[in-house]
Amino acid sequence: MGYLDDEVKRLQGILDSIEARVKTLEESQFGGSKPKTAKEIRMILIGPPGAGKGTQAPKIKEKFSCCHLATGDMLRSQVAKKTPLGREAKKIMDQGGLVSDDIVIGMIKEELENNPECKGGFILDGFPRTVPQAASLDAMLRERNQTLQHAVELQIDDSLLVARITGRLVHPASGRSYHSLFNPPKKAMTDDVTGEPLVQRSDDNAEALKKRLATYHQQTAPVVGYYQNTGIWKAIDASQEPGQVWKSLLAIFDGDQKKASSAGGGILSKLTHRS
Ligand code: AMP
Repeated sequence: MGYLDDEVKRLQGILDSIEARVKTLEESQFGGSKPKTAKEIRMILIGPPGAGKGTQAPKIKEKFSCCHLATGDMLRSQVAKKTPLGREAKKIMDQGGLVSDDIVIGMIKEELENNPECKGGFILDGFPRTVPQAASLDAMLRERNQTLQHAVELQIDDSLLVARITGRLVHPASGRSYHSLFNPPKKAMTDDVTGEPLVQRSDDNAEALKKRLATYHQQTAPVVGYYQNTGIWKAIDASQEPGQVWKSLLAIFDGDQKKASSAGGGILSKLTHRS
């Protein structure tokens, strides 16, 4: 037993010194910080209303401890506070149109610069919705020497969205969403987490949805082409149930991790010949 204990201690000593040496090497190679892994995320979710952006985005936020910026939620908070911007936006939102590019670009810029949660990266939900918004986002990131990693399109046929939207219930403060039939809260009209009341959005009706879908196909579908050109577009079948959609997202993140480790993330994996 004594021999075994001594041997374990000796091996532990060797491991400690290898770890210390690897740390020094990584610091000299990566400028004092660990190599970037898929831990920091900068991505957007594109998809028509009801595709599941608001269901998946909080899960991404939780996984990466990043910020979740939903321009629709930000605008609704202005509406609730009855600010001049909120009053103006409400009319446009209820008609299923788009608020001006300058306003939403300003909102995102402000959050990316000042929201401490965004230090760990971001997931944008409902932005960019036009090609000029996409170009502005790229310019904002260029100024920060950053790039977008993923533009994920949640693809789903319009015909499936009416039932999803007309039964949708939301918790305004968090953006959490439920469905009266497909994903009901534990207690009727009550948020599972806070116990606060759920509401139905004033634009979640069949008539406004028609206009929102038309707006989506006219103005947001070209955003897909924009990211196909930049090479970061990926598509997921959003007609699947939410758990399956999440698995598809995890597969995209998994691809990141593999890339990071084969790109030298690194020294330890080279030593152990593991990728
Ligand atoms: P959402 O919650 O993402 O469905 O957004 C609700 C409404 O807010 C939309 O129908 C638009 O009127 C407005 N809105 C949200 N995001 C944007 C955006 N990026 N650009 C313009 N309007 C937006």
